[in-house]
Amino acid sequence: QAKNAGRNQFCFYQASAGQQTADELRLEQGLRLALQHQTLRVLYQPKVDLRTGQLIGVEALVRWHDPGLGQVSPQDFIPLAEKLGLIGLLSEQVLVRVCDDIRTKRLPEVPVSINISVLQLIAPDFCERLLAILEQTQVSAEQIELELTESCLIPEQAETTLGLLTHLRNLGFRLSIDDFGTGYSSLSYLRRLPINTLKIDRSFICELPDNNEDSQITLAIIAMAKALNLDVIAEGIESQAQRDFLLDSGCHCGQGYLYSPAVEAEKLQAWTT
Ligand code: C2E
Ligand code: MG
Ligand code: MG
Ligand code: MG
Repeated sequence: QAKNAGRNQFCFYQASAGQQTADELRLEQGLRLALQHQTLRVLYQPKVDLRTGQLIGVEALVRWHDPGLGQVSPQDFIPLAEKLGLIGLLSEQVLVRVCDDIRTKRLPEVPVSINISVLQLIAPDFCERLLAILEQTQVSAEQIELELTESCLIPEQAETTLGLLTHLRNLGFRLSIDDFGTGYSSLSYLRRLPINTLKIDRSFICELPDNNEDSQITLAIIAMAKALNLDVIAEGIESQAQRDFLLDSGCHCGQGYLYSPAVEAEKLQAWTT
């Protein structure tokens, strides 16, 4: 059940007409404070070569610990930030953190992925602000990979998105489609997009290799990536059996608790020696 819930997660927050519970209000106030005091943190999950266990990249994942509420999941506060119009601010704080960690060499010299939400991507000044922060922190676009979900590829905006992504690629960013297989992007559109990588969604990985349907879907995504000349990476690898299945199927990049959860930048140094 958890699997299906994950698969059908919807990106936009349903703003119900003025009805706010006390809990939602607490969450909102907490988030505003966290942004005001810049107390959000960023952890990094290793991406590894499944054949060797070698570090090939990291994914930046935002963390919020509220003094009263405790640890709040990004699955809860990212949609809230979008709803409140705070996603731009939040993303900038995350990006500044990440670029600082790169600049001060707290991070190993591997590409760093950043998650981009659709509301961020369609903001008219998205590119400008992104470049301003890179410039300010002296980080180059080549060091950054942008992870977009399929919900970023809104059909009505296909041409605009294509133009934007092409621009980002020309600037040197790497692009990947996150949670691939859970959305509805058409194959003909996908073929035209200037992306580098497909990330197979965790919901297809978690029951490998026993679940035959998921095994077939995973094989199909790997084959599709090959046909489109894209890299492919699996997320949410928790067991050796999942890793073995993926390697046998021709997917040799992955991330997941089998290797490491998201950790402090400093902890990644152990991976490079
Ligand atoms: P995502 O980008 O698909 O990130 C993968 C999520 O799966 C992360 O959850 C990660 O901690 C978790 N995960 C990794 N390996 C495993 C595993 O082996 N098993 C299980 N069960 N889970 C695993 P997290 O950090 O809670 O983030 C959830 C989502 O929130 C992310 O999904 C992403 O869509 C969003 N998010 C996180 N940080 C940011 C951010 O800085 N900006 C934006 N816009 N979105 C973010
Ligand atoms: Mg991601
Ligand atoms: Mg993902
Ligand atoms: Mg996911």
